[in-house]
Amino acid sequence: MEISSSSSIIMRVKDFGESDLIITFFTPLEGKIKGIAKGARRSRKRFVNCLDIFSHVKLEYSLKKKDGLYFIHSGKLIDAYPGLRKDYATLIKASYMIELTEMLFPWHLPDSSMFDTLMNSFEILDKGGNTHIVTVFFELAAMALGGYSINLEKCSICGRPYKGVGTAVFRPDTGGIACMRCQGVTKATPGLSPDTVNLIKKIQAGLTKECFDTCTSKDFLGEIRPVLKLHREYRLENRPRTAGYLE
Ligand SMILES: [Zn+2]
Repeated sequence: MEISSSSSIIMRVKDFGESDLIITFFTPLEGKIKGIAKGARRSRKRFVNCLDIFSHVKLEYSLKKKDGLYFIHSGKLIDAYPGLRKDYATLIKASYMIELTEMLFPWHLPDSSMFDTLMNSFEILDKGGNTHIVTVFFELAAMALGGYSINLEKCSICGRPYKGVGTAVFRPDTGGIACMRCQGVTKATPGLSPDTVNLIKKIQAGLTKECFDTCTSKDFLGEIRPVLKLHREYRLENRPRTAGYLE
C-alpha cells in the first residue's frame, strides 16, 4: 500500500455511517480527490482539528482498490483560517472560491497554480483585507487557469490590436474585447478602461502580491464585476450556487 502525503485544502466534509467522514480535498499534484476518514468522528486523535472545511492541512492517504476512494490515514493542521468563518459574508466568499474551483477543476485534474491561488486567496481573506477585491481577483485568476482567460490583445471582431488607449468593450460571446468601432457599450457589452484591462492582464498571468498593490482604484470593481458575471455565465454550464449570495 503506497501512502501519499500532500498539502491539501479541505473542500467538503460529509458524515458517513456512524463514525466516519467523507472528505473532498484539493491537492497540488492530484487535484480534487475524495477520501474516507475512518472513525474520525469518534476519535479525533489522528485528525486534530484538521478536517474542517477551508482548512489547509497535510494529509496522509492511500488509494482504496476498487471505488477510487482514498483512505485518509492521518492529518496535520497547517492553517485553519479562522477568519473565513468569522462572519457570514466572508464565509460565502470562501465557499464561492471552493465552488468555482470545483467547477473548473473536476476530479483528478491537478493544477498547482490553482492550489496556490486558492491558498493565497484564503490567506488574504483570513487576514480581513479587502474581501471584495480578493474575491474578484480570485475569480479572474481561477477562470484563466481553468482555460477561460478574457482575450485582451485585439478586437475580437475586426482584429485590430488593442494598444491600451480608450475604452475596450467586452463581448461575452467571443470571450474577448471589441473596439468601439465594432461594438458600443451596453449593459450586455460593458466597457473597460485601459487601467482595468492592464490589471486583468496582470491577474490572468498569475495572481501575485503585485496585483493587489497595483489595484488602488475603486473603479476597477465597478467595471470588472459585470464583465466577470457575463463571462462566467457564458462560459460555465452551471451557475455556482453561492453566486446568488455574492451578488
Ligand atoms: Zn473592432
